[in-house]
Amino acid sequence: MAETFAFKAEIQQLLHILVHSLYTEREIFLRELISNASDALSRVQFEQLTNHEVLDSDAELYIEVKPDSEAGTLTISDTGIGMSHDEMAENLGVIAHSGAKGFIEAMKNAQNGTTAQDIIGQFGVGFYSVFMIADKVRVISRSYRTDSQAYVWESTGGDTYTLEPAERETRGTDIIVYLKEDAKEFLDEWKLKEIIRRHSDYIAFPIYVGDSEEAVNKQTALWRQDPKEITPEQYNDFYKMFTLDFQDPLYHIHMRADVPLQFYALLYIPASSEQNMFSLRKEPGLKLYARKVLIQEYSKDLLPEYLQFVQGVVDSEDLPLSVSRENIQANRILVNLKKTLTGKVLSELKRLAKNNFENYLQIYTAFGRFIKQGIVVDPADKTDIEPLLYFASSHDNDPEKLVSLADYAGRMVQNQTDIYYIIGNDFYSVSRSPHLEAFRQRGIEVLYFTDPIDSFMLMGLTEYSGHKVRNVDEAEIDLSEIGTLKEDEAKAEPLQEEAFGTLRDRFVKVLGGRVHEVRESKTLTGSPARLVSDDNAPQRNMFRINRLMDRDYELPIKTLELNPRHPLIHNLSALISNTPDNPLLDVVVEQVFETALLQDGIHPDPAAMAPRLQVLMQAATGTAVSNLDFSSIGSRPTIIDGDADMEAEIESE
Ligand code: ADP
Ligand code: MG
Repeated sequence: MAETFAFKAEIQQLLHILVHSLYTEREIFLRELISNASDALSRVQFEQLTNHEVLDSDAELYIEVKPDSEAGTLTISDTGIGMSHDEMAENLGVIAHSGAKGFIEAMKNAQNGTTAQDIIGQFGVGFYSVFMIADKVRVISRSYRTDSQAYVWESTGGDTYTLEPAERETRGTDIIVYLKEDAKEFLDEWKLKEIIRRHSDYIAFPIYVGDSEEAVNKQTALWRQDPKEITPEQYNDFYKMFTLDFQDPLYHIHMRADVPLQFYALLYIPASSEQNMFSLRKEPGLKLYARKVLIQEYSKDLLPEYLQFVQGVVDSEDLPLSVSRENIQANRILVNLKKTLTGKVLSELKRLAKNNFENYLQIYTAFGRFIKQGIVVDPADKTDIEPLLYFASSHDNDPEKLVSLADYAGRMVQNQTDIYYIIGNDFYSVSRSPHLEAFRQRGIEVLYFTDPIDSFMLMGLTEYSGHKVRNVDEAEIDLSEIGTLKEDEAKAEPLQEEAFGTLRDRFVKVLGGRVHEVRESKTLTGSPARLVSDDNAPQRNMFRINRLMDRDYELPIKTLELNPRHPLIHNLSALISNTPDNPLLDVVVEQVFETALLQDGIHPDPAAMAPRLQVLMQAATGTAVSNLDFSSIGSRPTIIDGDADMEAEIESE
């Protein structure tokens, strides 16, 4: 008696999408089935080499694709690891892998006009893609375990499938595809061969079509070939075949080493970091082979985590087949492999940055965030990563023109020993920041750190090549001896000391605990105020990361510097002495502070300034102070609740 099971809900959804989308690229079902057969063969090969208890241990490892015109079926068979009753229910009845899930998500989110066809190429949708061309599918499988019993799984792609015992003499799997009326073209051997060459040429096991005894595919381990004999297309095809990425990679590194370790490696940098999530590769990690036998599909021991965007294969001549972490010899080899591969990737990127900056920039744009992380998480690699860092800067003041730390260090002005940076949300706000005034005046370059990850990177980048790396808003910075001061237009007179003191007291009273201190600025020229920081601990900008990640964060308390020469400060001072009770006074003080927050990209709730600005504009355009409505002006947030998103918590005084 056959047992009947229902598919998990997502599978039904997936089947529905696949079956109901008219799909011209439906030939990829064959790539999916062959890829599964190849996985099954790799796994049994591994079992054979590590475990003697394998059914039919001397069977040839191959894949066979057999059309039967009379029956209207196409059968894909392999002598791989096979599946037991439970494994069939488990593997063919649930949606376990990210490709199919990602596909469903993308279909759900697709814009009008986008078809499954546009999207499917980006995903490894796996076994279920067979229902694009099948009315019915029978899977007969027998596990490699010596006491195994064969079962047959059957489904028409509806809501259910059945499972019952079957006959199969030998280990392996047959996928019998009952082709739909409009899919009979897949009975044509010539066409099948062509599809296999297009999508599955590098599968490591022979693929036979029909009764032919000659394999259709090349079966070459491309990574073991001489780079001189490989065309760029072959490199790209191989990449696409094993990642199912639909874009060409940005770069590849093909290496062969003999001493001290003997290995081959073919590494790729994908075109985009997002694509990665949906490709066939479900996890980060390189494919690890030992003498051409796949021993780990996702080896995370071969590259540091910050380089996990790199895809590829590594084939070692030295590794024992049973790589387990406890195995000391294997461990030592893996550690050395990792060191060599990491060094190679970093040096290749450095070379690329020098010789083909445009190409490097594509990589940096897609994966710069990973690279920057490395500075913090792998301090041992810091000096190798530093040459890979590029930032916009005040030198060109152009978001497209990036400079390296070395460029910066090479342009330092007289007496300059430190590297200066400004941190903010985007190029335009940092380039207009009041913090830059003093630096511009003295011709000192400032790097623009506008990537959210930069706050994190700074925890590891406290110095570069002997130069301290410092934030322009550090209260302690003294530029008086650095560079040369540009001739200034006639400077306005500063406020008298006593008048400034009165004004400062007013600011202190209004702002209370929201500032550390209020004091006179020695550096500001064009702006009335800025916020400086006394805390120079590396993690002081971590709140930006917390904010980005929707975690709770506290606004840092800073010191407010006022420019005693600025007309606004002069006006305020005059107001205080003439009409100290003018309610506009405190409103302006408040706005001066919040403008400084805004300019640093740390204002928690900019829209809250609108009612205040309206009152100020009314005053500026003629409404008498007595007629202004101050009640709509709220108070200021200080502690931001990550869950409440932009809704700031208002603290009452
Ligand atoms: P994926 O290959 O990404 O895991 P698929 O939908 O292609 O997803 O296949 C689902 C699972 O079914 C596989 O992971 C494997 O466990 C099992 N499977 C599919 N085809 C075979 C086969 N020919 N031999 C053994 N197991 C298979
Ligand atoms: Mg698969």
